[in-house]
Amino acid sequence: MIIPESRLLLAASIFMLVLGLATPYYVASDTVESRLALATTSVICDLARNVVGGLWDVECIVAPGQSPHTYEPTPEDMVKAAKAKVILYNGFTIDAWVAKLFASHNKEKLHRVTEGLEPYILKVPDGPYAGREDPHMWMDVELAIKYVERIRDIFVGQDPDNAEIYKTNAAAYIRELEELDKWIRETVSQLPTEKRILVTQENAFQYFSRAYGFRVGAYFYSIATEIEPSPIDMVHAVEKVKQLGVCVFFVESTLSSRLLDSLIREAGGRLAGPLYVDGVGPLGSGAESYVSMMKVNVGTIVGELMKGC
Ligand SMILES: [Zn+2]
Repeated sequence: MIIPESRLLLAASIFMLVLGLATPYYVASDTVESRLALATTSVICDLARNVVGGLWDVECIVAPGQSPHTYEPTPEDMVKAAKAKVILYNGFTIDAWVAKLFASHNKEKLHRVTEGLEPYILKVPDGPYAGREDPHMWMDVELAIKYVERIRDIFVGQDPDNAEIYKTNAAAYIRELEELDKWIRETVSQLPTEKRILVTQENAFQYFSRAYGFRVGAYFYSIATEIEPSPIDMVHAVEKVKQLGVCVFFVESTLSSRLLDSLIREAGGRLAGPLYVDGVGPLGSGAESYVSMMKVNVGTIVGELMKGC
């Protein structure tokens, strides 16, 4: 049977129409939207990117240089959260807003990267969050390795077909983190033990101090930077600093130096830093990744405390 030319054209145009409609839909649902993962902090973002390589697009909700403690999610975050298949968060108050915002309709997307780390948890000793869990666990590289293992397992669960890629990437990155941990220990060993006292803005160095042999000297925020310290907290910080004889005070990249400036007016001493804690550094800072931020931190801490007043 000979098919009239007009029918062929009609069939071809229907085929093209279907193809035309189907192709963008397929791309959008299976290649773009389902490959979007969000991370609350830029540190988790960087750890996750090292695990997924080019298989997922990992976006940070809180940009490098911003504080997750005081972050307010935007309508744009809501749109991204609806599109994302995976949302990684730290937990323990630092990014509590993510659960509030996304729990109702996106609960299955939420993954706490600190899950299973309960045996290592340190408690906040004082202030408005006394007795609660200290969220800054990534400041101990051995615990950051546990974050990476958990992130690897999350993506293996999401995408078992590429399990070997996630496992290989994670193993290579963990080796890099083990090297980093070794480097930190060697660098810190150059600093006499009695000089290893940290005076910082927030109490974010408990895990770091325990891992690398420092003492937490004094701080203003008991971890929660959204709650301003009282005048009594300031008096206590001044007393503590004088008693410890410390004169080098570290400013964090995501906080203003205002409180440390007042401390210096009362107790003397000088500012040093910045240290990168709640997020990696912005472009040009030299601390754009988790590994480089920890190297910059340790270099700054050891160098400045060695120099002294
Ligand atoms: Zn913090």
